Amino acid sequence: MSAGETQPLPGMSDLCAPEVFLWQRIEDAARRVFHRYGFTEVRTPLLERLSVFTRAIGEGTDVVQKEMYTLQDRGGREIALRPEGTAGVLRFAADGGPERAEARLYYLGPMFRAERPQAGRKRQFHQIGAEALGPPAPAADAECIALQLHVLRECGLDGFALQVNTRGLPEERAAVSAGLRAALQPRAHELCEDCRRRLETNPLRTLDCKQDGCRAIVAALPPVSSFMGEASRAYLDETMRLLDRLEIPARINPLLVRGLDYYIHTVWELTHPALGAQDALAGGGRYRIEVGGRALDGVGFAIGMERLALALQAAGVTPDAAAARPRVWLAAAGAAQTSDLLVLLQALRKRGVSAGMDLSGRSMKAQMRAANRAGAPWVVIRGEAEASKGVYLLKDMAGGAQREMGLAELLQHFTAP
Ligand code: AMP
Repeated sequence: MSAGETQPLPGMSDLCAPEVFLWQRIEDAARRVFHRYGFTEVRTPLLERLSVFTRAIGEGTDVVQKEMYTLQDRGGREIALRPEGTAGVLRFAADGGPERAEARLYYLGPMFRAERPQAGRKRQFHQIGAEALGPPAPAADAECIALQLHVLRECGLDGFALQVNTRGLPEERAAVSAGLRAALQPRAHELCEDCRRRLETNPLRTLDCKQDGCRAIVAALPPVSSFMGEASRAYLDETMRLLDRLEIPARINPLLVRGLDYYIHTVWELTHPALGAQDALAGGGRYRIEVGGRALDGVGFAIGMERLALALQAAGVTPDAAAARPRVWLAAAGAAQTSDLLVLLQALRKRGVSAGMDLSGRSMKAQMRAANRAGAPWVVIRGEAEASKGVYLLKDMAGGAQREMGLAELLQHFTAP
């Protein structure tokens, strides 16, 4: 087998100890907060019909045009690995009765985008996300942002920056496109090839072009809200006022639009200085998505788990490996003692004690080495001498002291409060 065969595909990673302990801590913290806000978990399939994504996210977006993993199932149906969570959750919401149109749902899991892998940008990455379905209301948007910050703080993170903007209403999109096109036209020849195409098809998409030249041109554009009606600007003002009342510092970024077509009204992004070039930690926004013949409204967010784990580690929140350490290791001399200790091993575990043992019949010396490696503070030894007396030898690995105990006393030692 060549070296490549043992590695995951480019842009994908195995996640294991010790990092996985940090991930579990993040997941536990997120669930705790979601439940406090009345959200329940939904686990939608990783594969969906391609149209679930193209219709919701938009045909002209980078995600749909360049980044989706698409394939055909055996019946020739076009399917895709989910590049984000909202489209699938909304497909689920549309599949139920009217109560689902006001559901509060969260998810945790992998997403797939065929991007160029680099630090902080993966092809399989993971998101924690939430969707609060229901009609547009600045208070609902402010609550959703507060929830997202609460999740991050519960994980132990601080120091992020929040930028907010508005995408206005679907009926204002034509005016926004026309306004941006007119403003960009004089410098159209300086834009990259993609952006020259976008100028015709969807000028909004020039705002998230990653090329330096385009970014400089775009930075001088008027705010997108200047092409919208008064009601959309008032919606943004009210959302900002509510964030202020919740003591959530936020800044309007007049050119923030985010890369997907389904957004209306509030969009936002959170960055963190520890993340370097890929500093987007999380995003969110209000959307209106047509699915199964009806339009569903909601507001939601996604937090990138890889980036959250990186930011936490930079802030000194490290994986807690101690939780996975056994409290006691069992070591047997000979096959008869191994079977006695296997029974004790299970008796301890059934009583809630984490216990480990090498069951492959290695020497006592090798078993003591294994106990050290596992980091167990206690070892229980059973040799022929102990077996003939019907006792166990309990050894304190820190001090080295040891003493004999009967089974009842031993179980009591590990289970006493
Ligand atoms: P988006 O849906 O693109 O707004 O992504 C939401 C969050 O997911 C981002 O802020 C990132 O933290 C994370 N994310 C998006 N794409 C990737 C990727 N390719 N690799 C790692 N994290 C990502």
